[in-house]
Amino acid sequence: MTTKSRHPETVALHGGNFRTDIATNAVAVPIYQTTSYEFNSCEHASNLFALKELGNIYTRIMNPTNAVLEERVAALEGGMAAVALSSGQAASAFSIQNVAKAGDNIVCSTDIYGGTWNLFNNTLRALGIDVRFADPNNPDNFKKLTDNKTRAYYAETLANPKLNVFPIEEVANIGRKEGIPLIVDNTAAPIICKPFDYGAAVVIHSLTKWIGGHGTSVGGMIVDGGNFDWVAFPERQPFFNQPDNSYHGVLWGEAIPKIFGVQIAFAIRARVVLLRDLGSAIAPQNSFNLIQGLETLPLRLKQHNSNAEHVAGFLKDHEEVSRIIYPKFFDGRSKQNAKKYLDGEYGSMIGIELKKGVEGGKAFIDALKLHYHVANIGDARSLAIHPASTTHSQLTAEEQLKAGVTPGYIRLCVGLEHVEDIIEDLKIGLEASSKVAGSSSSKN
Ligand code: PLP
Repeated sequence: MTTKSRHPETVALHGGNFRTDIATNAVAVPIYQTTSYEFNSCEHASNLFALKELGNIYTRIMNPTNAVLEERVAALEGGMAAVALSSGQAASAFSIQNVAKAGDNIVCSTDIYGGTWNLFNNTLRALGIDVRFADPNNPDNFKKLTDNKTRAYYAETLANPKLNVFPIEEVANIGRKEGIPLIVDNTAAPIICKPFDYGAAVVIHSLTKWIGGHGTSVGGMIVDGGNFDWVAFPERQPFFNQPDNSYHGVLWGEAIPKIFGVQIAFAIRARVVLLRDLGSAIAPQNSFNLIQGLETLPLRLKQHNSNAEHVAGFLKDHEEVSRIIYPKFFDGRSKQNAKKYLDGEYGSMIGIELKKGVEGGKAFIDALKLHYHVANIGDARSLAIHPASTTHSQLTAEEQLKAGVTPGYIRLCVGLEHVEDIIEDLKIGLEASSKVAGSSSSKN
């Protein structure tokens, strides 16, 4: 670490080992656009391959530009090590493939991004990994679905469309008693939520969203909290306790703390086994772009969240809106979780149900001038989308409802424009929606 600070504003600029480029003293992180790195000698080469020495071999597995991004995101999350990947999807897939194989299972929250749902419900299942979905409103549901082949719990901090904050501590504690790590997708709540503080073992990110922040580059990250005992329940975690024949029979859970002094077996295995075998490496140019975003993330996030709070206040009692979904306005357990985990902020996504249902929703989206109609979140620009016909369209109607996607639901992702301009644009959409014939089909 070049800084001991835990303040995100400082960590985003100085976290990790990079101060200046060793070769040139350049202050901005250089783009190391290279595939390979020359070995100093045969001994050096063989030490690198045997993990006796850590160093660059080939960019599919390690790259100095990617390393700066990895170290900074790890520092920001309070983790011990991280692995950058080509996309958030690769990060969620790897996080499961790093613990589970055919015949194993994981328990996953029902409140997750539609793409993750597809990956888990179809692609992982086709590979023989059973994914059991648990309603997070009752953390005990995770326990109920657990058996001796359960290798991980998986959840999202602040999943749209419901925007319910996941009970991280409650579920992490259930898992830890059984040797089951909680993996948390913290894409929508960087900085404002620190899953490791509540017992999560692994955090993943789609860097594509707020961390990159400008809608230019796709990337993902796995962060290892270094806080999980992979050897305490050897039968629960075979990948970390049985010899890995692809790596000279190494026992990852035992070997890694000896080599590195910290238990970062999850990150190391993801890098040297999964990146080696499956690829999904991030391009150094994309890491560079994402580092630019990361450097201003703390500042941008405050503005995103503050704009969203104003927009939510405007929409809350609007006559065309039958329901608003925004953590500040929740009751009961949802409110308590938002308060406990989000550090006094509420993120920058808002859901609204328009009184005129599906047709009202379409008219609203088509009328917007400033907002972009895109399948993305966490851009500097304000975004709007109708999930039922786009992001969640590959789910069945029943699955959509389970995920909280009602037919007339609109997701707003509030950007960095002046908030008065954002609200003016929403007024245009609401006006168009009001002109649609018929009454509410989705009032609750
Ligand atoms: N996780 C969440 C919460 C997301 O919203 C997304 C994408 O929208 C992903 C993961 C997947 O990330 P990527 O698009 O970078 O593959």
